[in-house]
Amino acid sequence: TMAKVHNYSAGPCILPQEVFEEASKAVLNFDNLGLSILEISHRSKNFVAVMEEARSLVKELLNVPDGYTVLFLQGGASTGFLMSAYNMMRENKKGGYLNTGAWAKKAMKEGNFMGKAVEVASSADKNYSYIPKGYSIPSDIDYLHYTSNNTIAGTQFKAVPETNVPLVCDMSSDIFSKEIDVSKFDIIYAGAQKNMGPAGTTLYIVKDEILGKSSVPVPTMLDLKTHADKDSMFNTPPVYPVYVSMLNLRWLKKNGGVAAIEKVNNAKAELLYAEIDRNPLFKGTTAVEDRSNMNVTFVLNDEGLTDKFNELLANANISGLKGHRSVGGFRASMYNALPLSSVQVLVDTMQELEKIS
Ligand code: PMP
Repeated sequence: TMAKVHNYSAGPCILPQEVFEEASKAVLNFDNLGLSILEISHRSKNFVAVMEEARSLVKELLNVPDGYTVLFLQGGASTGFLMSAYNMMRENKKGGYLNTGAWAKKAMKEGNFMGKAVEVASSADKNYSYIPKGYSIPSDIDYLHYTSNNTIAGTQFKAVPETNVPLVCDMSSDIFSKEIDVSKFDIIYAGAQKNMGPAGTTLYIVKDEILGKSSVPVPTMLDLKTHADKDSMFNTPPVYPVYVSMLNLRWLKKNGGVAAIEKVNNAKAELLYAEIDRNPLFKGTTAVEDRSNMNVTFVLNDEGLTDKFNELLANANISGLKGHRSVGGFRASMYNALPLSSVQVLVDTMQELEKIS
């Protein structure tokens, strides 16, 4: 067998080994039906049970209150940019956006198709290296949209923005990593391919009250009511990504749920940030108070050490650490399935570089 790689990929990303094992079995023989999960009807009783379990695990793990619907749709979070705007436009036909990074900016762009997207605050002036504070939120917007964790820049909101305006949040890269208060949001959406499962499905948690209330005409497939009315089965759902997500959510539940994984995630982040701050060779790229627990961005003070560091990383079986081109340097994505021991290997490698240079 091959040595296990310490996988720091930003997404799609590491998932638990036991999830891969179980998921691979279902490809050959699902539920002992003598059929692959890839060839069964999405209307079969066995798959309907998978969809129901996936939806109820989301409710249980995130403490979703009554009055919310959980959907597993397609189109990625990039379609969520468009869908959230379509479904939230009201009398003002205006959405407010906190522009905290590349994904937030893309969301804002979509808000201009059926209405107007207003930039309420931005951290573009410093390459998105901090979360804006002290801004005022206009009262004539129909909703406020923000990105809870900025996967590329490596910043994260430590608190939900205070406002009476309905909140929409793209939680693609930190959902299921920490406890959240769902009751504060009208729409939460997240691409699966970080902490939920493989790429191919997108999670929506929607307040029922908002369904069917848009002030603009909404195309059928982009109307959340279409999907809510049909229990997430209006059209053929992404059967396999939903199945693997369900297995991964079972894994999370078995391991103590979101509160337990949050503690592990905090420990991982503390370990790595402490080394970045201690080791004279490295420097973090974001404001300390806004540092993400999921995507840790840092650079070498001396870029001349890059090749040597990459060589040590390769020797230690660490992969996926290259920073996004817009930030440079390194990005360690530490999603739920990445063990603390992998972070220790990275820290050891950073210390090895210090010793030899
Ligand atoms: N929002 C955030 C915060 C992301 O990290 C990503 C993808 N990495 C997206 C949106 C886009 O998601 P998708 O590729 O599923 O459309």
